[in-house]
Amino acid sequence: MIKSVEINHYKLPLAEVLSDAKHGDHTHFELILATITNSEGITGTGYTYTGGRGGLSIATMLEHDLKPFIIGKDETDIDGLYDEMQWHLHYVARGGIASFAISAVDIALWDIRGKLNKQPLWKMAGGAGNTCKAYRGGIDLNFAKPKLLQSIQGFLDKGFNAVKIKIGQPKLADDIDRIRSVRELIGADTVFMVDANYAFEVNQAIDAAKAFEPYDIYWFEEPIIPDHYSGYAEIANATGMPLAMGENLHTEHEFSYALAQSKLSFIQPDASNCGGVTGWLRVALMSKPFNVPVCSHGMQELHVSLVSGNGHDGWIEVHSFPIDEYTTRPLRLEHARAVAPDTHGTGVEFDRHKLNQMNEA
Ligand SMILES: [Mg+2]
Repeated sequence: MIKSVEINHYKLPLAEVLSDAKHGDHTHFELILATITNSEGITGTGYTYTGGRGGLSIATMLEHDLKPFIIGKDETDIDGLYDEMQWHLHYVARGGIASFAISAVDIALWDIRGKLNKQPLWKMAGGAGNTCKAYRGGIDLNFAKPKLLQSIQGFLDKGFNAVKIKIGQPKLADDIDRIRSVRELIGADTVFMVDANYAFEVNQAIDAAKAFEPYDIYWFEEPIIPDHYSGYAEIANATGMPLAMGENLHTEHEFSYALAQSKLSFIQPDASNCGGVTGWLRVALMSKPFNVPVCSHGMQELHVSLVSGNGHDGWIEVHSFPIDEYTTRPLRLEHARAVAPDTHGTGVEFDRHKLNQMNEA
């Protein structure tokens, strides 16, 4: 039985200002923790994050709407609780703040499940393996070209063999110039993705994808707004460019539309905003018939276990919000592959001392 729930909200500074095409400058990211204890005293930690805005609303929904709703309920009935939480908040927050708040609770429940069953998350997520492919995703649209190249070189020096940059400069020629320079730097064997954060309209994205052709782009992420499902298919049909999205899809329904309509080559659910481990695994199941590899967005310290265990040869994004640096086990890379923890539960344990040195928001 769920006995207690504690919510914490932190605003954590980034080392430097990071920008993309549509969200402006990031100076902080937010971390919202949900710590759940059952009647036997076993504690699970769940969490979600933001790009610096909205965290207070998520923490408030957790404190005032979900905490009183789940206390006294059976912590082992995760699927049942997941659906109950969705309906409890559906009317006001379907796919929005609720998706983040429910994710934090769900991850905490999986942490407890793993501790009760003595299993690491990669085993609970399918057990296909404990390592996966990993790429380093830069948030670097605001970096002048020398700094961009320096940043990418830093990723290679850390052992990555796959990198992603932001695009969506005011002039397409500038995007192309940056892409050309990065490709020259990394050589032909490094995997290279680009992410527009929906800077384009369909026709612009088609022109861009055609212009990127000489540079062997592995995927073009969020060329247009995520809601325009058929627009993605138009771009894929016109150019043959592999497309990816998923960080802005928050409900199972949105994922089902994208899979059916968007001709995606990769899907990128984020367990922090699509319903936690339960939501992520449901997307993975839905993706199988479409043969679309399931990747991830953000929170690499958790997704390493989901993508590895799922075994569909997906990639985790190693994101520029370093949540893992606030845990007791920052992400490990071996031979360019990310290695999942064997700890029972999610394997994500926060360094509370380090967090408490930061100001709680
Ligand atoms: Mg992205």
